[in-house]
Amino acid sequence: MGSELVTDVEPSVGDTDPSESVDGDIRGDIRLDLGDVLASTLADLDDLEPGSPPLVDELGRVRLSFSRIDLYRTCSLRFRYTYVDKLPTEPATYLSFGTSIHSALEAFHERTLFGRPSIDDVHQFLYDNWDSSGYAHVPRQKQLDDYQRARHVLAADTEKWFELPVGDTAIVVGSIDRVDVDDNGEYHVVDYKTGKLRDVQAVRGSLQLALYALACEHLYGRLPATVSLDYVVAGTEVRVPVSELDLEAARTAVLETAEAVLAERYEANPTRLCDWCDHRAVCPAWEGPEPAAFAPAVVRLEQLRRQVRRDVAELRALEDAIDRGRQALLERGVEPVVVLPHHDLRSGDDDGAPDNAG
Ligand code: SF4
Repeated sequence: MGSELVTDVEPSVGDTDPSESVDGDIRGDIRLDLGDVLASTLADLDDLEPGSPPLVDELGRVRLSFSRIDLYRTCSLRFRYTYVDKLPTEPATYLSFGTSIHSALEAFHERTLFGRPSIDDVHQFLYDNWDSSGYAHVPRQKQLDDYQRARHVLAADTEKWFELPVGDTAIVVGSIDRVDVDDNGEYHVVDYKTGKLRDVQAVRGSLQLALYALACEHLYGRLPATVSLDYVVAGTEVRVPVSELDLEAARTAVLETAEAVLAERYEANPTRLCDWCDHRAVCPAWEGPEPAAFAPAVVRLEQLRRQVRRDVAELRALEDAIDRGRQALLERGVEPVVVLPHHDLRSGDDDGAPDNAG
């Protein structure tokens, strides 16, 4: 990388948390008064952090994903039971299977081949080999922007999370299994499948792949050259150029679903898929035998209650212990403070994983 870029780019593209340097402590340690620690006690069980994001966000946009749109179009009443009423559902075996395959593939592609460099190594290669010669006559910011973009491109890899605004009424969230960048700088979106093999025609009409193509454009500033379904069990990949996808139809599908959700339009659509619906017991359209409703949810509820009782007992015991320690320090005339590495306080707050739209 040219020396001109080094001095200006490094501070702006580094991964350092700016908050860590505010008070001049290079390790970012945090000094806390034990009285303040105890003051922020959990008052009661309603004093909890929110779980999953709401279906409609604070800007009035419906939070959708491919699977949510697909479910709405299959049976909008089932969508309502699942995402609006949030009725209990049973853990589905096929979902666990798919999740396991995806996780294994992600690990495979991260570590793949012996000696494959880490993303930090790759970023270092970029830094060391940055060619500034072509930027001699363009505004300096252009080079900085391109360097940032190059870092993003190199990171374009597996499980790429996106949040794609569509119009004013929808935001589509999801995770692209893999984004490859070829030698020409073209992007290629890949989705792993574990189910039934589909042909090129089905790939062309895939709403999911069209949404991923739009997400790729949102993430990297340009549409992918191709999208493909990689059938990992069969070992077959079905690939089509992005020009063969109907991206306008995908946008329309998103906006229509968002509009219907905002208008609370939900109707039963009985099909053979009802046999696999978790909400048959409450659905007025179901005429078959009554499934044992909510049994797994009741079992899980009891497990959680036992776990919460144990956790709350541990929490109260810890608060009492710290309070006794604080009193002991005060009696000795010692300031009751504790110094914690910034990192320790943050751990457990957030595992870095994006929330899941379902
Ligand atoms: S039982 Fe059938 S019609 Fe009723 S909500 Fe489920 S999928 Fe829809």
